[in-house]
Amino acid sequence: PVSLSDPVEDNRICVCVRKRPLNRQEVARKEIDVVTVPGKGVLLLHEPKQKVDLTKYLENQLFKFDYSFDETATNDVIYRFTAKPLVQTIFEGGVATCFAYGQTGSGKTHTMGGDFSGKNQNSSKGIYALAGKSTLLFTSQDVFALLEQRRYASMGLVPSVTFFEIYNGKVYDLLNKKAKLRVMEDGKQQVQVVGLREMHISSPGDVIKMIDLGSACRTSGQTFANSNSSRSHAVLQIVLRQKNRLHGKFSLVDLAGNERGTDVSSTDRQTMVETAEINRSLLALKECIRSLGKNSDHIPFRMSKLTQVLRDSFIGGNSRTCMIAMISPGMNSCDYTLNTLRYADRVK
Ligand code: ADP
Ligand code: MG
Repeated sequence: PVSLSDPVEDNRICVCVRKRPLNRQEVARKEIDVVTVPGKGVLLLHEPKQKVDLTKYLENQLFKFDYSFDETATNDVIYRFTAKPLVQTIFEGGVATCFAYGQTGSGKTHTMGGDFSGKNQNSSKGIYALAGKSTLLFTSQDVFALLEQRRYASMGLVPSVTFFEIYNGKVYDLLNKKAKLRVMEDGKQQVQVVGLREMHISSPGDVIKMIDLGSACRTSGQTFANSNSSRSHAVLQIVLRQKNRLHGKFSLVDLAGNERGTDVSSTDRQTMVETAEINRSLLALKECIRSLGKNSDHIPFRMSKLTQVLRDSFIGGNSRTCMIAMISPGMNSCDYTLNTLRYADRVK
């Protein structure tokens, strides 16, 4: 286990990596764990017995991030070092954003929370309790805790949530029967998702209810009934308003699986279109976060629908972003893992 010091509270951009444990199937097929976390960096290790082209990996074996978490880290720890330091930002009138990045099956939804996949619907069966608390639930709890604190209680802040997905460059409202929404930009470059439903919430439990509602909607949609959620980005936003005016916003984003970005073996047209779109949006995201880090005037948020919709996350003096890159530990995921580590490495 890694010993971690206190979270760095003044970072505008935090990039970290989380390795999940080998799952039961991987253990059953004796897959080798090729990832170790010796300290603050991530080291890719290859068992010499295996026939792997070692030279391919030698160059970039060691990566450094703000934090690297190994398979012993709980959601609780991840939260403390990633999203938690950002909660106060939205009370101070800022925009906080937390991204979960990685290949399908690497732990994005497990970390971010909510049943974004729709696979295990029905929270009444206790999946939230079983899975442990997620970033989303911890964040909701802390938002409500701060709303009651004396210094914020008198501000008249009203919390609500929005929940939507972005698939093939189109926005679908998960809190309104998957309505397809238009994105508009005004003369001052302000971006609006027209008609996006914003539901009032009065407890962390309400947030979970909205996620249940949205997730059910996500899988039963008319337009692409069997669409795999790994091909779309899911965005849940906790919004604070003061006299109807936007005060602060926390976006929690479960990104589309990045394996689509490298998997070029498919010739199926639908898949190719999806791949191109996912590539574009993940590239745009990287560029936008980098611009935020450099305090650049030019933020290329129009490069994709994802970054356009999240424009506020990359602009202004009070935006804070955190990216959690998830990695699978197995030898068979090596290429994707390296891809994820390189992406995360370049974000900052
Ligand atoms: P993704 O959303 O990236 O496709 P999931 O979050 O659905 O991946 O994770 C895939 C599977 O692995 C799930 O069954 C999940 O519960 C499990 N899993 C992911 N991360 C962890 C972890 N850190 N500890 C234990 N199980 C995990
Ligand atoms: Mg998922």
